[in-house]
This record gives sequence, structure tokens and C-alpha cells, in this order.
Amino acid sequence: REFEREINEDTSIHVVVRCRGRNEREIKDNCGVVLSTEGVSGKNLDLSMGPNALSNKTYAFDKVFSPAADQTIVYEGVVLPILNEMLAGYNCTIFAYGQTGTGKTYTMSGDMTDTLGILSDDAGIIPRTLYSLFHKLEDTESTVKCSFIELYNEELRDLLAADDNTKLKIYENEKKGHLGTLVQGMEETYIDSASTGIKLLQMGSHKRQVAATKCNDLSSRSHTVFTITVLIKRTTESGEDYVSSGKLNLVDLAGSENIGRSGAENKRATEAGLINKSLLTLGRVINALVDKSSHIPYRESKLTRLLQDSLGGRTKTCIIATVSPAKTNLEETISTLDYAFRAK
Ligand code: ADP
Ligand code: MG
Repeated sequence: REFEREINEDTSIHVVVRCRGRNEREIKDNCGVVLSTEGVSGKNLDLSMGPNALSNKTYAFDKVFSPAADQTIVYEGVVLPILNEMLAGYNCTIFAYGQTGTGKTYTMSGDMTDTLGILSDDAGIIPRTLYSLFHKLEDTESTVKCSFIELYNEELRDLLAADDNTKLKIYENEKKGHLGTLVQGMEETYIDSASTGIKLLQMGSHKRQVAATKCNDLSSRSHTVFTITVLIKRTTESGEDYVSSGKLNLVDLAGSENIGRSGAENKRATEAGLINKSLLTLGRVINALVDKSSHIPYRESKLTRLLQDSLGGRTKTCIIATVSPAKTNLEETISTLDYAFRAK
């Protein structure tokens, strides 16, 4: 009962959509465009689903970023407010959700080049967050640590471990009445600067790319979770010291193809073993939180167990749904928008 009440308190889920422009191939093939948006960022997205205006469908989200919205605009519009919540002691999560090729990795990591503190214009959320975080922590007594995990076929791999073949195990951790999980043996690296954090991101991403060349669908079917935890020493008005902690999970999800509309299972994909249990369960957990349901099915997948202490309760979540404008991707785009819309 206690826990149920806590779940319904203060949970906030924001849903934004990011539309990329047509890529070279789509332009070369003269692919039709089915999406239209308002300015650089607005709230509505118009989808043309048939021959005339009558078959258009308009979706409204917390924000809709047009192809003209660059990495800075997305960062400032979505991430900065969440970073402030994290510093205020919330556990926060940002997900990139969408069909393979629509810009999830570009949005979360983007160009990871760090030239003596100068990032590329294409730098994504993680490198930008690390720089803002350390900037905001100047003149505080604080510690920051990172972990970087990959989840594939319901198995966890530590992208920061020297021996990266060890499969990590998740355990329940119910101390202090706090429902959460512990990942046994997970590397948590203390970092004292943004550039150290970016080096970890580069290293882990490189390991992932090496593995992806051996395993065809690894990059489209695996999830990565880059977690930043911060502990800050603060003082109350009456002069007592205490430590405030916050966490930010930055999640690059597996491709959403094969997950049918509204998160329903696609029968053919299920038979082919292509269904991603963690991705499906995430949708169910988010829907249960939105519906304020008394049962949240965290335990049904590794991803939701891993993120249990950051979903529901006193937490902040943002889903960035990424979509292609091309007519050839219309079915998947509808599917992504429906999944995202149900999370509102
Ligand atoms: P995903 O991770 O969803 O499979 P990627 O992030 O790898 O997709 O994006 C596919 C390609 O499209 C990459 O070459 C990426 O740089 C490019 N891309 C994606 N979104 C954008 C965008 N908003 N602006 C510029 N390039 C983009
Ligand atoms: Mg990707």
C-alpha cells in the first residue's frame, strides 16, 4: 500500500518527438515526405496517411522537434530541465525510442569528439550533459560516477569492465524499504571531469561497435544505458550537513521495428524470436504508470528491473521518439507515434 501510494506521487513522464530530415538515399529515391511540423519546435505533428487532407492525422506531444532543430536546441529544450531535477535529488531517465536509422544514437551520443573541452556541433545528449553537469557542480563538494551497460537478448554486459564478457546479474535490493535493484559486479567509475566521462563513453561505444561487426543485429536489437550518479554535500538552513543524491539514466533503446502498434506483439516477429522483451515491458510499465495502475510489471524484463528505482515514485522521465519523414517508413512512424502517444 505504502509503495503503491508512493508510485502515484510526483511521477512525471514527458514525451517529445524528434523528426530527422530525409537522408541521402531518401532524397536520391525521391521519397515522399509524410510529416509536417510547426517551426523548429512546436507541439503538433501532422501525418499524411492517405491521398488527401481528410486522411491526415494530427498528434500533440509535449514538444515536437522539426528537422531544423539541431543538437543544441534538443539539449536545451529537453535535457537541461531534467539535469536540474537530477541535481535536486530526483532519479531521472531519458529514453531514445524509434525505428532503426531514425536518430536514436545521434540524439543520445552523436559525435563524441572532445577537443580540449570543445565539443562538435553534432555532439549528442551524453557529452553535453557531462559538460553542463561539471559546470553546475563547480564550487560544490560532490562526487560523480558513471556506469555503461548493454542489454542484448535479456543479458547484461558491462561496457566499462576490463573483462567485458562477464554477464552481470541483477539482484533485488530492498534495504530501507526502497524498492530497487543492484547489479552485481557492475563497474561504477568515479570521474572528476566531463572529459573523463566522455572517454568512458567513447571506450564503451567502441567496444559495442567491435561486437556489432561480429553480430549483425546487435546494434539494432540491443539497449545501452549510460548512468550518471551524483552525490552533493549540502547544508540545511539550520547548518546541518547532508548528502543529496541524484541519478540520470541515458538510454539508447533497441530499434522499435517488430513492436506492433500500441506496443502489441507482432505475431510473425514473435515466431522469429525477434520480439524484444525489454522494449515491450518498458511500454507496459510506462502505460501502467500513466494509468496509475496498482501493479507495475517491473520484474518482467531486465531493462525495467535495471531502471526500477528511476521509473515511478519520485522520478522524472522523458521519452524522445525519433521518426523518419519518408513515406516508405510510414507504417513504422505510425507505430512509434502511437507508442509514444500512449505514454503521455
Ligand atoms: P538509430 O540509432 O536510431 O539507428 P542513428 O542515430 O544511427 O539511428 O542515425 C542514422 C543516421 O542518420 C546517422 O548517420 C545519423 O548521423 C543520421 N542522423 C540521424 N538523425 C539526424 C539528425 N537529426 N540530423 C542529422 N543527422 C541525423
Ligand atoms: Mg543506434
